Amino acid sequence: MTETTTRPSGTAPGVAYPRLGLYIDGAWTQGTSGRTEDVLDPATGEVIAAVPLAGREDLDRALGAAERGFRLWRDTSVQERGKILHLAAEKIRERAPEIGRVMTAEQGKPLRESTGEANRAADMLDWHVEEARRAYGRIIPAGPGETLSVVKAPVGPVAAFIPWNFPAGGPMRKIAPALAAGCSIVIKASEETPGSACLLTECLADAGVPAGVLNLVFGVPAEISGHLIPSPVIRFVAFTGSVPVGKHLAGLAARVMKPSLMELGGHAPVIVCPDVDPVAAARACARGKFANTGQVCTSPSRFFVHGSIADEFTSAFVEAAEAVKVGNGLEPGTGMGPLISARRRDAVHRLVTDARDRGAKVLTGGSFVDGPGFFYRPTVLAEVPPEADLLSEEPFGPLAPILPFEELDEVIERANALPYGLAAYGFTHRADHADALVRGFEAGILSINHTGGSVPQAPSGGWKESGYGREGGSESLDGYLVTKRVSHKLV
Ligand code: NAD
Repeated sequence: MTETTTRPSGTAPGVAYPRLGLYIDGAWTQGTSGRTEDVLDPATGEVIAAVPLAGREDLDRALGAAERGFRLWRDTSVQERGKILHLAAEKIRERAPEIGRVMTAEQGKPLRESTGEANRAADMLDWHVEEARRAYGRIIPAGPGETLSVVKAPVGPVAAFIPWNFPAGGPMRKIAPALAAGCSIVIKASEETPGSACLLTECLADAGVPAGVLNLVFGVPAEISGHLIPSPVIRFVAFTGSVPVGKHLAGLAARVMKPSLMELGGHAPVIVCPDVDPVAAARACARGKFANTGQVCTSPSRFFVHGSIADEFTSAFVEAAEAVKVGNGLEPGTGMGPLISARRRDAVHRLVTDARDRGAKVLTGGSFVDGPGFFYRPTVLAEVPPEADLLSEEPFGPLAPILPFEELDEVIERANALPYGLAAYGFTHRADHADALVRGFEAGILSINHTGGSVPQAPSGGWKESGYGREGGSESLDGYLVTKRVSHKLV
């Protein structure tokens, strides 16, 4: 096993891709298992690196380090933790152009989205540092000679599992609240996008996060969760990913009575009311739909449009879809990159084929882009029958089914009919319609007249099978803190 305190850098075709490693107990290592997994550039399909996969010995070292790191970090003042983490945020901003290029090389999204994501990860860290300063307890009235209070303490070492769609934002949504709250963390980032996670980790290490507080691993996902979650060292489990995997991990955590946070999939409805400009609404919807190639848990994915404006909306949506420049995210002007993998591209195409076979009309797109890489055309569908898989399975790709409606009450019911409840969108200028949407939508994240993304100061999270727990906002620290009641009698 080779261990270094600084991570050597390597190169990959087209972009300087970092040398990958596991970061355990303050040192980079290639691990003990000898196993690796290829990392592909989804825009070319070429192998650009190999990520080492942790074995049990590595995981045990990470757990031991997290246990020691927790004791140290918990007892570090909130001011000192804040200084280190703010410095890490500065380093992330300084290195955002490099992180962005690496992210685009491994995940495919356009460079401007990648660089923006790296900067937002820094903002997320800064915000949590400040919020942790306000993790107040309270004093409860009691009798003479007695104090009764409530204090918040960091819950302990955290095990976190992150997918590939936000290679910097995803890890930071777990690292920021954990470290700001005073927890240590063992994080399994995605084997498909390990470079960004390594660069983020390097920023935190360079800023002075002590050994053991942050441990980064890659590996066979089921092996890692199966080992970390039952370990008595781990006190909290945080996962972002699909509903089936979330249910499995929540089950593992429940068996050992550990609290968990589950940020799972969605199938977000959009309701476009008859009072809006259909062209402007269609353009806004298309921007939201094709961001990150539709690979966002909150991506708008069922477009219910009032019958009186459906034709105009649909034409404008098709026009916007056809105007998207699909290509390598490193090329200037690219509006949409590839899907993450051939597997995901095939899954997206299967949904289109199924819908078409059942009578849907594909108005634009509906096919692979010729040449290398995992590209899929921005796709708009009409007349999709209710039984098509596309209307019940999360598409996680650039697919936009447009579905006309007549009555608002009836369409809110259709929108809520799936077991998902993550995001929902409405377009209307009427206060009564907006009120009906906000009260009626069964979703944890509601947006009216836009499809914009999350911000650190407001909570994001699911309802129904889309999960539980919140990331962002004052709720973000909840899972990472334990509430202690302290009753003190002066005798
Ligand atoms: P998947 O279900 O195979 O994996 C999702 C994530 O979970 C991956 O990062 C994977 O490494 C991890 N994972 C899988 N099994 C695990 C286990 N036993 N223990 C720990 N981690 C495990 O999905 P996929 O094919 O990578 O992506 C497709 C689907 O996943 C999408 O349709 C979408 O529903 C969902 N997804 C959701 C998000 C999100 O932001 N909520 C992100 C990525 C993927």
